[in-house]
Amino acid sequence: MKTTLLTDLTVRDICEGFVYSSLDGKGLFGWAGKLVIQPEYQRHFIYSDLHKEEPVIDSVLNNYPLGLLYFVKVAEDKYEVLDGQQRITSLGRFVTGKFAIKDEHGMEQVFSGLDRAKQEKILNYPLTIYICEGEEHEIKKWFETINIAGVPLNEQELLNAIYSGPFVTRAKEVYSNSTNPQMQKWTSYIKGDPKRQEILRTALSWVARGMEHIDGYMSQHRQDASIQELQSYFDTVIDWAKGVFGSPYAEMRGLAWGELYERYHTTPYNTQHTRERVEALLADEYVGNKRGIFEYILGGEEDKSLLNVRVFDDRTKRARYALQTEAAQAAGTSNCPYCAMGDNANRTRIWKLAEMDADHVTAWSKGGATDIGNCEMLCKTHNRAKGNK
Ligand SMILES: [Zn+2]
Repeated sequence: MKTTLLTDLTVRDICEGFVYSSLDGKGLFGWAGKLVIQPEYQRHFIYSDLHKEEPVIDSVLNNYPLGLLYFVKVAEDKYEVLDGQQRITSLGRFVTGKFAIKDEHGMEQVFSGLDRAKQEKILNYPLTIYICEGEEHEIKKWFETINIAGVPLNEQELLNAIYSGPFVTRAKEVYSNSTNPQMQKWTSYIKGDPKRQEILRTALSWVARGMEHIDGYMSQHRQDASIQELQSYFDTVIDWAKGVFGSPYAEMRGLAWGELYERYHTTPYNTQHTRERVEALLADEYVGNKRGIFEYILGGEEDKSLLNVRVFDDRTKRARYALQTEAAQAAGTSNCPYCAMGDNANRTRIWKLAEMDADHVTAWSKGGATDIGNCEMLCKTHNRAKGNK
């Protein structure tokens, strides 16, 4: 990869012919048309949301460094911004009067309201720019290295940059568009911000069968004009989840629906029954992990570890131990009721607290409570034997 350092360009040069469109996906241009500030793969403009535009202008007025800008050379006299899009956009938006800053008297001032000297100071501020030319994998590596300042690009934003093309453009129109009327339905199942490419990332991970296969999928489909496969797989997963569980529950948002679909979509479910079970388990105070309920039900209510069912606390165990041990000593039997029924040396053995475990007399799955009335201390051997039944 070849890099060239430019130090003679100023804010004036870069903001010449600056074009801003607040609509999603519209290009932003500068440097008299030579620079694409927001290439199709770039993230949405984030600085204005985060109130970081004003500090950019303050930095310039105070002669603080703005940091390095990175451009990639795509053709003769044609460049795209790799890193620095938001700083450049803030500069361009200010110079073209899109927002105001507070002056030293606390008054809001747009660019044209500043005194001439300040205007010149901003326009003549020198920028430090690295121009990069190279192969895709080199640029990828570089991207990862420079992705350190400002609002960092996340993994999906990075992939969108690397595999930019018709597929990404089309996919973003659907999945990165917060005004898409379907978005509300989708975000009942998926966590994330469409603008940060988090819905797109989930959609891709489903069709690619895993986050780790997203880059391969994007590479393979990079030049596709259609996102048909992505869309139909995505809709299939969402429709399946809706079919099995009915209207979405808040607790199911962000579950691995793609994986769950792959594992369980050939199993038939009765929606009315699954809803009854979901609601019973949501209301069950012993279920510690409400989010595990859906997979638990899909798997036929076998893997209780998904629910993190509440266990007896130490106070309950100690109290129960004291009661059992006192009664056992009075009767001259073991404090493990199963040992006491046996016919061996353990018949009269008094186990220490640490040698025993708490057990539900009536199993939790059969409605047994996790309180002292349903708690029984057993020696570890008998507790294990009972658990395996
Ligand atoms: Zn025992």
